[in-house]
Amino acid sequence: MKFVLASFLFIITSTSVLAQKISYTFSAPNATHHEAEITVTAEKLPLAPAIFRMSRSSPGRYATHEFGKNVYNVKAFDAAGKPLTIERKEGDVYSVAGHKGVVKVSYTLFANYADGTYADVDATGYHLNIPATFMWVKGMEKAPISISFAVPNKDWKIATQLKQEGTTTFSAPDLQYFMDSPVKIGELHIREWKVTTPGAKTLTVRLALQAEATDSMVDTFTNNLKKIVAQASEVFGEYPSFDYGTYTFLASINPYVKGDGMEHRNSTMITIPTVFNASNDLLGVFSHEFFHCWNVERIRPKSLQPFNFEKSNMSEALWLAEGFTQYYGNLLQVRSKVITEQEFWDGLGRLINAKTNVPGGANYSPIHNSQHAVFVDASVSIDKNNYANMFSSYYTYGGAVALALDLELRNKFAKSLDTYMQQLWKQFGKQEVPYTLPGLQQALASITTTSFAANFFRQYVYGHKPYDYTTPLRAAKLNVEKVNSQTPWIGNNAMRPVEKGLMLAGNTVRNTPLYIAGVDVDDILVEVDGQKLKELKDLDVIKKHKINETLPLTYMHRGDTVKTTIQLLENNWLKVVDASSTQPASDKSITFREAWIGDKTKGR
Ligand SMILES: [Zn+2]
Repeated sequence: MKFVLASFLFIITSTSVLAQKISYTFSAPNATHHEAEITVTAEKLPLAPAIFRMSRSSPGRYATHEFGKNVYNVKAFDAAGKPLTIERKEGDVYSVAGHKGVVKVSYTLFANYADGTYADVDATGYHLNIPATFMWVKGMEKAPISISFAVPNKDWKIATQLKQEGTTTFSAPDLQYFMDSPVKIGELHIREWKVTTPGAKTLTVRLALQAEATDSMVDTFTNNLKKIVAQASEVFGEYPSFDYGTYTFLASINPYVKGDGMEHRNSTMITIPTVFNASNDLLGVFSHEFFHCWNVERIRPKSLQPFNFEKSNMSEALWLAEGFTQYYGNLLQVRSKVITEQEFWDGLGRLINAKTNVPGGANYSPIHNSQHAVFVDASVSIDKNNYANMFSSYYTYGGAVALALDLELRNKFAKSLDTYMQQLWKQFGKQEVPYTLPGLQQALASITTTSFAANFFRQYVYGHKPYDYTTPLRAAKLNVEKVNSQTPWIGNNAMRPVEKGLMLAGNTVRNTPLYIAGVDVDDILVEVDGQKLKELKDLDVIKKHKINETLPLTYMHRGDTVKTTIQLLENNWLKVVDASSTQPASDKSITFREAWIGDKTKGR
């Protein structure tokens, strides 16, 4: 009897969950002043107080963001439109009690910041990142969602990865998908093309571009974008089967947006603050974001699954999710020939420095740097930090790990990082099984050896052992050299002239001459080697000296004058130099380069 009763209750509960529904409306009658009017209606609510809230994080962004600050005029109604009492429980949390299962909440949103994280409502169009725009209902995360947009101009188009249900209505299966689906509404240039994977269905890739541009400029840009899209699929051997069959680049390239790129499952939101000129220089962020539709959207760390919208989402694996994507962003461009080989080598130099010379890379693991993203990733705080001495971007540092692994696989196993990415795709991404660090290590072992994978992870993932890029890069006829060899140097600090001397704008960096001399951020350099420092060029006095010489230094710290000495050192900053211009390239190095950066779509 008990058993029967329990089953009966289960059926009742699951039926009511299935019937739950969330619907939104969006309109912007005061778009001129960046206001939108939004309603959210929840049906089949349990009879307890209903909790409506704004998010504090956004898919692909790892720090917290207080989206609730731009929401006001919050009201609640029942199914018949009769007002209900709504109580503000926290800055971004509202509670509605005394309802009969249906609650409609309306509010005004202010939105004036177009990037991958926030929202922008303007007379020229709407740019909606969902967590920055829409409240959601606690406990109804699995309920299907429908949304209807009021579009004031018949020439405006709507672009999104949401499923289209009518001209201006869309749907999402649940909250996770809805939150991951930004929407762009306005005068958009649309271009679509088909891509195929052998033995799989044909998919559509779409560009929805907001920019001042002629049709031929958009066509030129699209043709180059197509090359990058094709190169990306060659890495994995196939495209992901995009939900609803389509992937969309939502792109705003105009001076009124903020620079950003944000990946989503079947789309990306790209904002580049410049006048659109169809130039290949704009493609870098497109290349990076498209690679994400495999790496992070489907080859996904367990630590980001499911995404929590109430707090920051920490992951230990951003060195792979972002760093490997950063590495491939450039690699796909050079394989597509939209950047030059020299530009690619220059990029490698930046990666090597992020591991070798940035203190956060030299002294801390990629895992530590990934986990710090919860504070760093477009986060807003006003107090000072010591990132200059304990953080290296998981984009470039992770890219340096990718480069090291690519070189190891090419030189020692006649394989490549492409082989590893294919293994991750096969093992995790295609089946959408989230990975852990031991899983990544095991996948590497499966294409190399157990001991190689264990050593690589111990030294360069769990640890921060220096990696010698010089020897393996010789296989490609590339040299690693100091940028300013034999030039005396005091540090990389930015300075600005003030009344008493030159003021340091940022933290001094560990192991640089200024740091060793005891100079701190906001200190003022007054005199070095007898030269009063009034303008930046007065520092040229050090060029008369040699590396390792010690000079008298006077600086001010919080009003006190300090007399000390500073020892000039050599700047360790590195660059990658193409040696094939001075020494004849061997057949072997030509083959090595072709396998690494050559066009992978040849013969297709
Ligand atoms: Zn990224």
